[in-house]
Amino acid sequence: MSSVVFEKVTKQYENGYVAVKDLNIELEDKEFLVLVGPSGCGKTTSLRMLAGLEEISSGSIYIDGQRVNNVTPKDRDIAMVFQSYALYPHMSVADNMGFSLDLKGVPKKEIRKKVGAAAKQLGIEQLLDRKPKQLSGGQRQRVALGRAIVRSPAVFLMDEPLSNLDAKLRVQARAELSELHKKVGTTFVYVTHDQAEAMTMGTRIAVMNSGILQQIDTPQNVYEHPSNIFVAGFLGSPSMNFFDARLLKKDGTLMIKTDGGIAVPIPTERLSRYQEFQGRPVVFGIRPEGIYHPQYVPPGIDPVSITATAKTVELMGYEVIVYFTLADGTEFIARLDPRAKVTPGEQLNLQFDLTRFHLFDKESEQVI
Ligand code: ATP
Repeated sequence: MSSVVFEKVTKQYENGYVAVKDLNIELEDKEFLVLVGPSGCGKTTSLRMLAGLEEISSGSIYIDGQRVNNVTPKDRDIAMVFQSYALYPHMSVADNMGFSLDLKGVPKKEIRKKVGAAAKQLGIEQLLDRKPKQLSGGQRQRVALGRAIVRSPAVFLMDEPLSNLDAKLRVQARAELSELHKKVGTTFVYVTHDQAEAMTMGTRIAVMNSGILQQIDTPQNVYEHPSNIFVAGFLGSPSMNFFDARLLKKDGTLMIKTDGGIAVPIPTERLSRYQEFQGRPVVFGIRPEGIYHPQYVPPGIDPVSITATAKTVELMGYEVIVYFTLADGTEFIARLDPRAKVTPGEQLNLQFDLTRFHLFDKESEQVI
């Protein structure tokens, strides 16, 4: 068992800055938790507190039920992989990987066995005699992982370990890390600002902003049911479109009316949720993929027609990203079927899928 618990953890730096506030997270054994958020949101600070590299100002951290606030990093049974792999340049790959075991006085034969097994898992057996400078970035990253694996830690901590790789390698390494997680069967805590990494690798993701945990759930739930405007806008590329709006009653029907003139009737199943917000300012959110070209509307959606003018068209091959404007100049983005032929300046009756919109309280920014 290697569970991790953050209990009301706060970090205030010496200059008074509160980088992490009241963080509560319970990780289960063998989970792959991704801490994600924009630069400066406190994710690295949280990871460093778990690693024991940063003092905790208040609250507690538990690993396997043991409170570790005052336990030194080397006694925490964790291994950390950083953005900079910091391999020893004068040592071979095998020696780099076995170094921590050597320090602990593990017999040489045992070290060779463990290094060999980790190298096999990572597909780098043929590189064991090389020096780090004779490796590509992706290979170095694997050695850094190997160095962590040989220690058989209870928890793996990773801080942006893929950010030195080029785009194609990153995608490949993402899949490899998920595979590795399954193979080693250990708890992973992974920090990134890259929402695609979070979505593809995490068994759960914890979205942070300004030192505060915003939401923690499976990638799919966070994407489909964001708890507030920040989370809704952070996950997804292009981002969710937001429109300032009001909930108004017209001819007995509750409608969302945006400042830019979009009028959307509320689907019956959502009426009770929204009733009390009648007359209040709200924010209407719809993802680019919730908007359809009139000729390519799939079955099973609940479409409402919105007239808009195409401004910029980006052909991506597998999709078309189109920037639209409403009559009052409000802009939004749609991700359309790649077969849709759209030209800048063209006016279209777009179909907004009413099964997939989100509504937020403008004041609290929380989902309604
Ligand atoms: P990034 O993706 O840029 O690494 P992050 O989410 O990991 O960002 P942290 O490194 O945890 O962010 O930093 C959180 C906040 O705490 C930042 O605003 C940072 O400037 C501040 N901070 C970090 N270290 C210190 C320090 N030693 N003293 C004061 N403030 C600090």
